[in-house]
Amino acid sequence: MIEAQPAQATTPIARLGAPETAKAPAKKLTGKSAVLEQLETPEHQSWKQFRFMIAFGLLGIHAVGVLGFWYFSWSGLAIALAMYVITIPLGVSIGFHRLLTHRSFECPTWLSWICGLSGTLAMQAGPVTWVAAHRLHHSDADRQPDPHSPFVSFMWSHLFWFLFWDPRLQDVENRNRLAKDVVARPGQLALEDSYWWISLLVPAVLFGAGWLVGGTYLGMSWMTWGWALRLVAGWHATFFVNSACHLWGYRNYDIVDNSRNNWWVALSTFGEGWHNNHHADPSSAAHGHRWFEYDPAFWFIVALSKVGIVKNVRRPSHTERMNHAAGE
Ligand SMILES: [Zn+2]
Ligand SMILES: [Zn+2]
Repeated sequence: MIEAQPAQATTPIARLGAPETAKAPAKKLTGKSAVLEQLETPEHQSWKQFRFMIAFGLLGIHAVGVLGFWYFSWSGLAIALAMYVITIPLGVSIGFHRLLTHRSFECPTWLSWICGLSGTLAMQAGPVTWVAAHRLHHSDADRQPDPHSPFVSFMWSHLFWFLFWDPRLQDVENRNRLAKDVVARPGQLALEDSYWWISLLVPAVLFGAGWLVGGTYLGMSWMTWGWALRLVAGWHATFFVNSACHLWGYRNYDIVDNSRNNWWVALSTFGEGWHNNHHADPSSAAHGHRWFEYDPAFWFIVALSKVGIVKNVRRPSHTERMNHAAGE
């Protein structure tokens, strides 16, 4: 069964050729030298709002990842690579981002649930929180109150932003309102509510399976590589979309935010780094708009549509008006 598509809930952003929206005063950027004004520090960036447990967990998992260098095994590396492909391109890029946030294609309930589970295993957030945060970003990108603009600071956009209690995201009612279509999809709220259980089960299962097969060394290897190191790699690959892709790279579209197309972020995220294209046309399933813009996440969606599993794949609508040298 193909899930019905609810009405578009995201706030439209100014696009190439479209009039600038009511989000004034938006400073239009011109070309590579464009610099946005420094944004004020968000009100919720205070020690009272600091989420100590999240920070402790983040540091702890980085430390467990370092342990992996003392527990290398080829099977541990293979598990890490397989889990990376399941969680980052399938879970976060195709599932959380292109399907659940932007509804750039339609798919059966079983596939949206698999995508939601795969994204949850990336341990960035549950599907509802992830979508809510990303919709807030699109509605005010690089302007207050964008939840993670690098124009507050690089580290704020990279990871500090989620170490602080943001009432728009951590308040369940607010969060559910921002992503009410995701809440309405079968199984997604259950994944959100089970987020911590699922996150803690993964290292236990990996250690247990490795221990059964080859003892403590292999258990540690599968856990440190398949869980901690793989998580750290997936985190920073994704976090660079929020930080690097709003600072460094080229622009195909002269739009009001500072989004950039960045090839090295695209490489590690299977196509998410073409972020200026994405901000210009958020509902397009394709993030690569030019022939050399490598976008395997989109190729996979196209392959699924060829065999009839997904439908109504949205294509870029702005390429014909692309400004190859934005600002010139
Ligand atoms: Zn962005
Ligand atoms: Zn997006």
